[in-house]
Amino acid sequence: MKAAVLHEFKKALVLEDVPRPLLEANEVLIQVEACGLCHSDLHVVDGDWPQFLSITKMPLIPGHEIAGRIVEKGSDVRELQVGDRVGVPWIYWTCGECEFCHEGNENLCARQKITGVMVDGGFAEFVKAPASHAVKIPDALSAVEAAPLFCAGVTVYRALKQARISAGQRLAIFGIGGLGHLAVQIGRELGAEIAAIDVADEKLRLAERLGAANCLNAASTNVAKALRAKGGVHVALVSSAARAAYDTAFACVRATGTLLAVGLPAENVCFPPILMAAKEVRIQASAVGTRADLREVLALAGEGRIRCHVTAHPLSDVNLVIDRLRQGQVSGRVVLCFA
Ligand SMILES: [Zn+2]
Ligand SMILES: [Zn+2]
Repeated sequence: MKAAVLHEFKKALVLEDVPRPLLEANEVLIQVEACGLCHSDLHVVDGDWPQFLSITKMPLIPGHEIAGRIVEKGSDVRELQVGDRVGVPWIYWTCGECEFCHEGNENLCARQKITGVMVDGGFAEFVKAPASHAVKIPDALSAVEAAPLFCAGVTVYRALKQARISAGQRLAIFGIGGLGHLAVQIGRELGAEIAAIDVADEKLRLAERLGAANCLNAASTNVAKALRAKGGVHVALVSSAARAAYDTAFACVRATGTLLAVGLPAENVCFPPILMAAKEVRIQASAVGTRADLREVLALAGEGRIRCHVTAHPLSDVNLVIDRLRQGQVSGRVVLCFA
């Protein structure tokens, strides 16, 4: 099968022919129809995260926003059939036995395996997955539209669910990329009044079309001043990986509000404790999501209530697209497609 393979950190992926994966009894073989490109893929390819260096398989097929169709199944698989449309998320497998799995937070499983990091991912014609963790895609969703929900979509969905944002509350979203443009729509569906913040006018125009009431360019507007003039926000979700976005977001949160950390800058972020105390600000982080979160966000998209804006490219464009993503030139989500 054709695959884009990482042989060395910071090097271009190599398009090559590799053997199809062989199935264990509890696994399914998926013919990949679409695989989204996520900012995390860049960090994995570049070896940016020290915690990941020792767990990254090498050589590796990256990609963790996978949508496709089952073409073969192991002898123990009962819950899925050949022909079913399924996807594979960032979290490839969880143990089901640790305290986090028992508490309904399997996204924090101590023994989790990560797709496109610890096992081969979806930048290939076929991928295998444990049947227990492959999640069905609603009929109404194309593979290209579904793929980004397996990381970007589920991540912002869980984050906003955890922050318990409710109708009529003010939500600011910092960074209108793959995650941010979905956050605008999910926030809108939850009834929040949305402010979108970015430095690219094109991304702000997209946010406006998707229902953001207030679109602010951080390069030319004092965002904190503008949002504080309206009383501050109940929740500031940072989906940008820019550290400056965290500083601004903190300044926009109203008393008792929440700063919701989803974007991951390489540097540490710092907040003054005196201001945290004075406003009883909560700093909350969120990590991808569980299979239950994933089913909920897929259902929302299946009903047409949210839609991921995607640009499709053939697998052969993978290195080109990685470079464009590195330079922040991507609006919405880029998805690799297989004819
Ligand atoms: Zn991702
Ligand atoms: Zn576990």
